[in-house]
Amino acid sequence: MPFLLFLRMTYFDFHHHHLEKETGIYNLGFRESIPNGFFSAGIHPQFSAENFDQKFDWLQKVSHHENCLAIGECGLDGLIDIDDEIQENVFQRQIELANDVNKPLIIHCVRRFSQLISFQKEANVPLIIHGFNKRKTIGDELHKHDFYLSFGKSVLQNVNLQEFVKQFPTEKLFLETDAEDFEIELLYQKVADLQSMKLENLVQQIEENLKIFNIPIDDK
Ligand SMILES: [Zn+2]
Repeated sequence: MPFLLFLRMTYFDFHHHHLEKETGIYNLGFRESIPNGFFSAGIHPQFSAENFDQKFDWLQKVSHHENCLAIGECGLDGLIDIDDEIQENVFQRQIELANDVNKPLIIHCVRRFSQLISFQKEANVPLIIHGFNKRKTIGDELHKHDFYLSFGKSVLQNVNLQEFVKQFPTEKLFLETDAEDFEIELLYQKVADLQSMKLENLVQQIEENLKIFNIPIDDK
């Protein structure tokens, strides 16, 4: 296994919007055609107020596809102009769907972390917060409640976040580019440095973490 890793290190990009990218989880848009690689599909809180039935029908269909690894991004956002109640209902339906298809949830959360934690008991699948860049107290609380955290570009610049990542357990961590345009290898290297570990060990740990998806990652 370690020998294989040296031959071709794969920097798995946990959440991204780059269709041409081969390694990672592409965030599929509503009614977009199914890509060849892995993807996730969900109803973002931003789009939760309109045509729910159509969107949910679509989501139910694609959620069964073998390349669909997770439901999301979905979640709660305190900075958008959409009713909390609507957002919570739409999120709740997606948690139920994730339970039904037995696939993890990729979560978008802005200023609604305590509400998010109260939803956790509804989910029977792993919960991963994508693009985490908030305070240590919030991160610690999420970790205490067993959430995985996926970190993005902010880790390259944000010193407080770097302090947090330094001590965050790597077995609950993923890395992602999201909609940003940069080499994810830089982020892997940064996190390996912060954790004082070898780059290949971090790559290997994240491959290990990907077992929450029950897929043969080595083949992709
Ligand atoms: Zn995204």
